[in-house]
Amino acid sequence: MIIAILVQYGGNPVNPSNDVVEDVDITINVTLLANAGVMIEAKDMRIYIDPVDLPPEYGDYPADAILVTHDHGDHHQYATINMLQKDGTVNVFPKIMDTEIARHDGVGVVPLDEVTLGSIKVTVFYMYTFSPAADAPATHPAESNYTSYIIEIDGFTIFHAGDSKNIPEYEELGNISLALLPLGPGCQTMYDEEVVNALQVIEPEYFIPIHFTEGANDQFVSRFGRSIEATAHCEIINLNYFTSHTFEIP
Ligand SMILES: [Zn+2]
Repeated sequence: MIIAILVQYGGNPVNPSNDVVEDVDITINVTLLANAGVMIEAKDMRIYIDPVDLPPEYGDYPADAILVTHDHGDHHQYATINMLQKDGTVNVFPKIMDTEIARHDGVGVVPLDEVTLGSIKVTVFYMYTFSPAADAPATHPAESNYTSYIIEIDGFTIFHAGDSKNIPEYEELGNISLALLPLGPGCQTMYDEEVVNALQVIEPEYFIPIHFTEGANDQFVSRFGRSIEATAHCEIINLNYFTSHTFEIP
């Protein structure tokens, strides 16, 4: 059983180890950054996924690991990755990003690879979109082996979908506690009913929308929230950018 407690605040990352309550074993703090950017703090580790457009204060909150899903500029920025470095930061990229792997002394991965960060296990998963017409290429071709990530923290599993469509491989995702799925635009990611359908397949306990334009998260939740809760049986945690939610796991 997992207990979620909503703690919303603006901007300042929190070290969860300062915040341990009796009979809570693990605190997992999830902060939505800009676009699809997420910061996860748990077990004295700070993991960023797709960090972009961060205010300079984040230089005081360096990364134990950075996971990048693909090379589009709204998911990957050289300067932001540099700002978050410290001794021993593990920088994970899709293998196809060979220039970035070399520049950041990174690790190149493909779907189904695993990366271990202390006691946290990261499993690399699939991420792609479909070609919209026979002669039009997909914005995120399956052949590129771009990546999504499953982060397992003492049995609490967080799935970050990157820019994916609702792809058949989601049937193989296994047990997901928290799904971070994009809301659009539809030429780049899943959107509208596709997000609902993906949640029906994944059946996470919690869903946090990512990758939306300001206000589109509220519109999405008012249009589809009820249907998601009724058909995918998950709780929606609708965060604005640079706010956080803390999960406390007994
Ligand atoms: Zn993209």
